[in-house]
Amino acid sequence: MVRLNEVRAGEQAIDLPAGSDAALYFIGRIHTPWTDRLTCPRQGRPDGPTCRIEVFAPWNRGLDSIAEFERLEVLYWLHESRRDLVMQSPRSDGNARGVFSLRTPVRPNPIGTSIVELVKVEGSTLIVRGLDCLDGTPLIDLKPDRSLFKPLAPAQAGDFQVGDKS
Ligand code: SAM
Repeated sequence: MVRLNEVRAGEQAIDLPAGSDAALYFIGRIHTPWTDRLTCPRQGRPDGPTCRIEVFAPWNRGLDSIAEFERLEVLYWLHESRRDLVMQSPRSDGNARGVFSLRTPVRPNPIGTSIVELVKVEGSTLIVRGLDCLDGTPLIDLKPDRSLFKPLAPAQAGDFQVGDKS
C-alpha cells in the first residue's frame, strides 16, 4: 500500500534543516489521469495513457527542436511528498532500507524522473506516454533521452591544459 504520511515500523524520520541551497523554477505543469497517490502507477509504462506536459512561458521557447526526439527524460517535483524519512519500509513489514536504495517519492529532494515517448507537440504542450505522477505535478526539466546520444570520442592527449576549467 502506498504511504500517505505515516511513519511505519522500522522507519526513521530526521529533523529537516531550516534553509535550503537552491531555488527551482517550476517550468510547467503535468496533466495526468491520476488524482491520488493510491491509484497512481509506481512507474510509468510505455503503454500507459497519454498525458500532457504544459510548458509555461517564457520557457516554452526552449521547446524548439524537441519534436526531433522520440523519447524524452522528464524531471518533476513530487510536490505532495514528505521529505524527512531517511529509512523507509516500502512493504510495511518493519524491514527498513535507506532512501537512496529506493525509488520512493519520499526523499530529501522529491525529484521524479521518467523516460517518456513523445507522441506529439501541440504548441507549448507535449503529449507523452510513460508518466507516473499526479495531475498537477510541477515540471522541473525536459531532456532528450540520454540513450539516444552516442558517447563523445575519447579525450586525446593534449585536449586539456592543466588548469583548464572548460
Ligand atoms: N518514476 C519516478 C522515479 O522513479 O523517479 C517516480 C517514481 S515514484 C515511486 C511514483 C509514485 O510517486 C506514484 O505511484 C505516487 O504514489 C507518487 N507520486 C506521484 N506524483 C506525486 C506527487 N506529485 N507528489 C507526491 N507523490 C507523488
